[in-house]
Amino acid sequence: MSMGFQVKAAHPKITYCVDPDWFPFEAIKDGKHMGISSDYLKFIASDVQLDLTLIPTKTWQDTLDKLKSGECQLTPMLNQNPARSEFLTFSDPYFNSPNVLVSQKNQPFLKGFDQIGNQMVALPLGFRINDYIKKNHPEIKTKTYPTVLDGLLAVVDGEADIFVGSMLSTNNYIQQHGLHQLRIAGWAGPEDNLRLGVIKSHAELIPAINDALAKIDEAHKLAIYHKWNNVTVIDNTNYQLVKQVVVAGTVLGVLMLIYLWMVKRYNRQLHLQNDELNRLKAELTKSNQKFKQLSTQDLLTGLYNRYYFDMALAEESSRFDSDNPIALIVIDIDHFKKINDQFGHSTGDLVLKQFSNLLKELVTDMDVLARWGGEEFVIFSNNTTIQQAHDKCFDIQQQLKSTEFPGISVITASFGIAALKQNETMSTCFQRADQALYKAKETGRDRICIADAAQAVNTAG
Ligand code: GH3
Ligand code: MG
Ligand code: MG
Repeated sequence: MSMGFQVKAAHPKITYCVDPDWFPFEAIKDGKHMGISSDYLKFIASDVQLDLTLIPTKTWQDTLDKLKSGECQLTPMLNQNPARSEFLTFSDPYFNSPNVLVSQKNQPFLKGFDQIGNQMVALPLGFRINDYIKKNHPEIKTKTYPTVLDGLLAVVDGEADIFVGSMLSTNNYIQQHGLHQLRIAGWAGPEDNLRLGVIKSHAELIPAINDALAKIDEAHKLAIYHKWNNVTVIDNTNYQLVKQVVVAGTVLGVLMLIYLWMVKRYNRQLHLQNDELNRLKAELTKSNQKFKQLSTQDLLTGLYNRYYFDMALAEESSRFDSDNPIALIVIDIDHFKKINDQFGHSTGDLVLKQFSNLLKELVTDMDVLARWGGEEFVIFSNNTTIQQAHDKCFDIQQQLKSTEFPGISVITASFGIAALKQNETMSTCFQRADQALYKAKETGRDRICIADAAQAVNTAG
């Protein structure tokens, strides 16, 4: 017990105050002294053997007032100026820190106080820099705010244009409170040469404190600086940047994935649509072919129909060439009506089919054979003279005679032939062939009649 008392007696009891809100230099959090000055003070207290008690304050001004009144006897970190020197004795400076000008991001960079001009400057209350500005730049318009944060927020809100404060603490607030619309716009005034101060009545502590400070080597100073300033400009900026890059990257990645997914889906749909289109196209081609076939073919006999024949003639029009004679043959079954009447319409159909097959056998690839209608057939004979056309008809006539039509025995047909003349249209030529057929019928049927010829060729019997 007496030991404890002696140890305690050897340690002068000292009350101290700090700036409660000046991180990373110093601050009070949960009633505890934090920040750079806390480590220096711990070292000093153990080296000088001080028994320290923190008197918590709400603002820096509060701290200054308590120092003035003597309620606080020591403050670990502040700038020296004449006003403060009236009630404080200072240690040697042990920590240097630059001051900066802070503005909104869209403002231009400033070289220093000379460039501030007409702009409103926000200052934290009771800071040494206030006196510096008043003395060296009295033309600058200033507004004071209770805390660093209030001053910075004034710039955010546009109440003030520029905030002046310590680089480390200012940056700390910008990062902590996400004031990213702010940036450091330039260097401000003199560096802070931070010292420890004791009230005049305790000035005798200063030599021992200076001795203690002198024992702190650069490595230790750096360690303290890094410990409290790990949220530094660079670290924080990088951290923010990394965060932004990661977020932007993620957003981009997600957008890319969505885009790829949509492209893939679109392609798949396109593929399906293509397949469907191809299928429809194939179907259409098939039905078109069928349609073409239907529209050009006679259903009963399978020969070309009148429509096709007319088209073919139209295409061949005005193609008279003495080296390529063209003949038109019109064939009509004799007394076909009787067959229908006697044996029935379906037997008539069978006769038409059999007759058509016989014609098919006897025409060449150069010929166009069609059913003109009813029991009437036409042959367009390319590269065929009248004689050759006649021979063809004769062949058909003879073949008919030797063909057995079931139940009917023999049938006969009449033929009209015309050769395309120079300057003649196909339809005129066709009319002449038809007239020749009429003549063949008129003169007894079962015969071949050539248009404009004196006589029909009677091969009957
Ligand atoms: P002609 O010797 O003067 O040519 O006498 P025809 O009886 O052959 O001629 P007509 O023009 O008097 O009669 C033709 C008949 O052919 C009339 C019609 O009923 C029949 N016919 C027309 N088309 C078809 C068909 O597709 N099938 C059947 N079975 N008969 C048809
Ligand atoms: Mg007939
Ligand atoms: Mg007829």
